[in-house]
Amino acid sequence: MSTIKHNWTKAEILEIYNTPLMELLYRAATIHRKYHDPNTVQVSTLLSIKTGGCPEDCGYCPQAARYHTDIKGNDLMTVQQVKAQALRAKSTGSSRVCMGAAWRNVKDGKEFDQVLEMVRTINKLDMEVCCTLGMVTENQAKRLAEAGLYAYNHNLDSSEEYYKEVISTRGYQDRLDTISNVRKTNVTVCSGGIIGMGETIEDRAGMLVALSTLNPQPESTPINALVAVEGTPLENEKPVEIWDMIRMVATTRIVMPETQVRLSAGRTQMSREGQAMCFFAGANSIFAGDKLLTTPNPDVNEDLKMFELLGLNPQKPFTKKSQPNTVEAKESKIKSLNEKPKWSRPEHKIKGNKETKLNSKASK
Ligand code: SF4
Repeated sequence: MSTIKHNWTKAEILEIYNTPLMELLYRAATIHRKYHDPNTVQVSTLLSIKTGGCPEDCGYCPQAARYHTDIKGNDLMTVQQVKAQALRAKSTGSSRVCMGAAWRNVKDGKEFDQVLEMVRTINKLDMEVCCTLGMVTENQAKRLAEAGLYAYNHNLDSSEEYYKEVISTRGYQDRLDTISNVRKTNVTVCSGGIIGMGETIEDRAGMLVALSTLNPQPESTPINALVAVEGTPLENEKPVEIWDMIRMVATTRIVMPETQVRLSAGRTQMSREGQAMCFFAGANSIFAGDKLLTTPNPDVNEDLKMFELLGLNPQKPFTKKSQPNTVEAKESKIKSLNEKPKWSRPEHKIKGNKETKLNSKASK
């Protein structure tokens, strides 16, 4: 019988987060050892298969078309380009390729078919394939599963309350609905969030309530530290303190013992010692590669040196779950429904996002 607790309250999570640090680390590390090999870290490579020009208004994101940052957009990559990058990632120890497209939601058609082909191609390289493509319907999730998708990423970003201060073009329930659509397949769920966006500790706990009360809990949870990019509404936010990151990782480990907790954006701001403490606190996954979609990330060689120094080994693909089958396009039994789903357009407006959009226009 599973011993995972699914009814965490905000008060309980806050109490854990605020535990004296040495006690918190000991508790998190003890749980970590019970559920995982502490010397193994899963390595993912994040690939931006379609960059920029996104219609959403996520306050942290340089890919939102309305903010006019320095991001150079590109059309959807070809299957061959993706395959070449995946092979490169594999040769440097990555077990998973996560493909990100700056879309509000998946739309049936030529581009989605191309992404399905990318999924088939990478799965056949015996690597775990993850996609982060925005909101998906149940039928689209099933088509991704049939192609051999291993994981789908869809972050909750923050607590439901603070989410409204960061994003106005879609609602929290849309995120939960997408996760629930993915759960109707065999694809694993990757969902986490970002700290350092101006949220309170209560908001961090609120996000962990939302994630940990999902049943099952996400198989992986990225914890990002905001990378404040010039031109976005959150450009002036202060860098996240390493202690906040360590506390967030440790708390996530305690409330979600089986989840792979991923150190994601913001690693360039962290020392090796800081990262080592995060691994001790229960982080057991990183993103590798010099770019995380569009923001900087430590060099692959730096990470390899850090692994050697700390005695860490990259996790082999399909350690936690077996490799999915790939059904070829011509044999597919799940056809496109050409749906036009009605994802929400919330009424709330965010002053900072509106001002940044207006300032971007004025400076053009
Ligand atoms: S985070 Fe994703 S959905 Fe939001 S603006 Fe960036 S690319 Fe678009």
